[in-house]
Amino acid sequence: MMNDIKLASLKNNERTIIQVGGVKFGSDFVVIAGPCSVESEEQMLKIAHAVKAGGANMLRGGAFKPRTSPYAFQGLGLKGLKILEKAREETGLSVVSEVLDPRDVAWMGEYVDILQIGTRNMQNFSLLKEVGKSNRPILLKRGMYSTLSEWLNCAEYILSGGNPNVILCERGIRTFESYTRNTLDLSAIPAIKELTHLPIIVDPAHATGKASLVLSMSLAAVASGADGLLVEVHTNPKEALSDKDQTLTLKQFSELTKKIRALQTFMEGLN
Ligand code: PEP
Ligand code: MN
Repeated sequence: MMNDIKLASLKNNERTIIQVGGVKFGSDFVVIAGPCSVESEEQMLKIAHAVKAGGANMLRGGAFKPRTSPYAFQGLGLKGLKILEKAREETGLSVVSEVLDPRDVAWMGEYVDILQIGTRNMQNFSLLKEVGKSNRPILLKRGMYSTLSEWLNCAEYILSGGNPNVILCERGIRTFESYTRNTLDLSAIPAIKELTHLPIIVDPAHATGKASLVLSMSLAAVASGADGLLVEVHTNPKEALSDKDQTLTLKQFSELTKKIRALQTFMEGLN
């Protein structure tokens, strides 16, 4: 129930601004970019430098991958985190990576600036309690079957556990539509702004599953008041070890950032 939300509620609370490195979630428009999975040092460093040049403010890359099939690439684990650390050193960009297991929260926080909780783990209450004790900001993705109330209750778990820095991420929900991987719930953005003081970003890649739809949904996210974007980018999407169909090329990414920055400037003029 939405009435259960106290710390996450907009009522009696100021809007949260979360500073990570040089960027402020909730006040800057933050573009997080990178491959779905960290695949190798060469791949990650190349992409990291390229997305920085293309206008990214932060880097992403999965080291622990929640794959539907146990036979699919599961991620490089610690090796992947060390590669992300190197990419961070070389580019100066902060990094976000998904944590799957409560036992990994404490040590993983040494390698990344933000811990991501994926859609499949949104209601993993042991994991939520554990990240509540972390001093790292948490990127909490919306469960693919979850209501806004359930989502905000999960944020409440983290806040009540002692960690005030939660960034929400709308990444699409399951509907009867099958042309897209999920359905991007754009109305969640202004709705979340009515309900909570926490920043919300949008992941148009997992929401649509199609690279061709990422630009328009990114623009729609900006127009809807999102605080940032999370997009998947690869030097060679066709060869990506996960989520290749929704992954942008470097060229598509820099075109996207140019357009969203222009729209953002226009939107600021409306206020
Ligand atoms: C991801 O960010 O690569 C990911 C697995 O996202 P989600 O949990 O939204 O599917
Ligand atoms: Mn992915």
